[in-house]
Amino acid sequence: MHNKIHHSLLQWYKINGRHELPWRLTNDPYKVYVSEIMLQQTQVKTVLERFYFPFLEAFPTMEDLARASLDDVLKKWEGLGYYTRAKNLYLAARKCQGILPKNASELLELPGIGRSTAHAISAFAYKESLPILDANVKRILYRYFAIEKRDEKLLWKATYELFDSSHPFEYNQAMMDLGSLICLSKKPLCDVCPFEQGCAGKFTPQQYPEAKVKKIKPIRNRIIVVYKYNDKFALSQSKERFLHGLWGFMKYELFEKNEGVYLGHITQHYSHFTLQADVYMSKGDYVHEECEWFTLSEIAKLSLSRADHKVLKLIT
Ligand code: SF4
Repeated sequence: MHNKIHHSLLQWYKINGRHELPWRLTNDPYKVYVSEIMLQQTQVKTVLERFYFPFLEAFPTMEDLARASLDDVLKKWEGLGYYTRAKNLYLAARKCQGILPKNASELLELPGIGRSTAHAISAFAYKESLPILDANVKRILYRYFAIEKRDEKLLWKATYELFDSSHPFEYNQAMMDLGSLICLSKKPLCDVCPFEQGCAGKFTPQQYPEAKVKKIKPIRNRIIVVYKYNDKFALSQSKERFLHGLWGFMKYELFEKNEGVYLGHITQHYSHFTLQADVYMSKGDYVHEECEWFTLSEIAKLSLSRADHKVLKLIT
């Protein structure tokens, strides 16, 4: 039914596809897996230039990752954000004892792997004939089929309908590239799009899908207190799901301002809230909460959140 469209897409991909991306040039499922997890919430350029190779250098195989400590893994992930990804990658490596399952349904059993990621790993590493549904593909499908309603089920139906099962690898890669290079979220380049002939949404692409109801991001007001004893600083490890395992200076909802020396203010925007915090250097060295003490050079080896890096700057 979509033969013509498939042909145009493959032709376009042959000429314009990003064939040189390192995770497309490998048969190593572990490397494909790492790239898929990194690319979940981060752009190709950032992953490629700053994170993919150093991570693989530190943990060249899945067995190495399973044997590492969570602290080391988080340290290598520092700056990439969405740290649950790193923690799940690590837990998955341990769960499967360094050997990645060879099909999508077993991949789905691992922490941090949803349906689209399982399909992507399986399609790219094992050439399993399955469509993917990442953010780029979703955008194309919404427009191609002129789907207004934001509905995951409808999208899965659509992705199977458009799928080219005879060229699963090339089709999926081409769709990802088409979404990143042509079917852009703000100004799609419909004139040069291989789907132009069949696309139901090409005249009003911005209508598909319907606009999201904008949520106002909550602000979390906190006080950060830097406790210093001799040349060491008190830090605790986050147990929250978000930022889990990262080290940080002591944070409170309230603090008696006269107990410390004001160092400055920090703001950090996260995906679902904004942190606003006044930072104080405590006059005392007694910390009520669970913490550990580190010198500055020891802190440099820990994985800290971006907010705590800002605090560190205020101190140093
Ligand atoms: S024709 Fe335009 S809206 Fe449709 S898939 Fe191509 S770039 Fe996107």
